[in-house]
Amino acid sequence: MAMTFEFATTARILFGEGKVREVPAAAAAMGRRALVVTGGSPERAAPLVAGLEAAGVACAPFAVAGEPAIEMVRRGNEYARAERCDLVIAIGGGSAIDAGKALAAMLTNSGDPLDYLEVIGRGQPLGHASAPFIAIPTTAGTGSEVTRNAVLASPQHRVKASLRGASMLPKLAVVDPELTLGLPRAVTASTGLDALTQLIEPYVGVRANAMTDLFSVEGIRRAAGALPRVWEDGGDRQARTDMAWASLLGGLALANAGLGAVHGFAAPIGGMFPAPHGAACAALLPHTIAVNIQALRARAPSSPALGRYAEVARLLTGGSQANAEDGVRWTAEICKKLEIPPLRAYGVSEADIPLLVEKAAQASSMMGNPIVLTPQELRQIIKGAI
Ligand SMILES: [Zn+2]
Repeated sequence: MAMTFEFATTARILFGEGKVREVPAAAAAMGRRALVVTGGSPERAAPLVAGLEAAGVACAPFAVAGEPAIEMVRRGNEYARAERCDLVIAIGGGSAIDAGKALAAMLTNSGDPLDYLEVIGRGQPLGHASAPFIAIPTTAGTGSEVTRNAVLASPQHRVKASLRGASMLPKLAVVDPELTLGLPRAVTASTGLDALTQLIEPYVGVRANAMTDLFSVEGIRRAAGALPRVWEDGGDRQARTDMAWASLLGGLALANAGLGAVHGFAAPIGGMFPAPHGAACAALLPHTIAVNIQALRARAPSSPALGRYAEVARLLTGGSQANAEDGVRWTAEICKKLEIPPLRAYGVSEADIPLLVEKAAQASSMMGNPIVLTPQELRQIIKGAI
């Protein structure tokens, strides 16, 4: 088969413990006034802000509580323009990074986020490159530091949709595992399983390519080994480094090879219920793998995705004889061990199934799934995850 692919990523990536201390010098070369986007605990960014000010970069702080919504982007954009910011730095979990990425795009493009949003907006292309953007994740994670989209919630539409564009890729990503050392256990678990999902879905999906396969294989192996360790001991620096590495690899893979049904469901679930993205993905993962394998065996038994699911199982279990179903068992067991709650914990009930199935079928991530699932199969996934 002919080998073709396109691969694009963040211009510069700094990885390793202590790398966050290199941000001020890098930022000073990009702008004079930075919008500093943080999560709900802005005080954690105090050392970074002090370093930036010392390097001659003025800081305008902007804290994002919860997952970013369209209205928050409008507010942040007004603030960034009033403060005459020429640079955006985001330090935090996926929500802060996505908020910063959206704000960097809106700083150079006129109009409203809805002009550019997929699915619920007008979906116009972003005409101008984003303002320089530095992404510093503090979870491992979403991989958002190397992706070209920002997921925004629209409470009005009860769904999440993306701002997307090649020019939204950050100028610099700083992946410093030290920043993840203090993460609460539940966040470690849900973001870690999101990272694993973001390695598996690109690998089995229809857009997998030779380059993203390398990232997925390495990342799945690392995450499988590190997830139980990081759960047992959040201070395990080697395990934290492995998870930061796996998360970065997942971002590189998904940005260039797409996702699948887990993320297809995660979009409407995140829009309709107060479920953190990672927790929703984790609850869906074993059921989605099981249904995908069942659908492939029934309708596409010669699909290469079946062999890929077997390889995923070998990487997860470390067993050379593992078959595809062993991967289902392994993911179900790790969700149990890491105390991932079922979706009903966030208020999802049987009555929501028809609407969730309808919305998931339209989600952009669903396009990457290894096989087109029937409404019946989609129901089976969500029923299992509730
Ligand atoms: Zn995800």
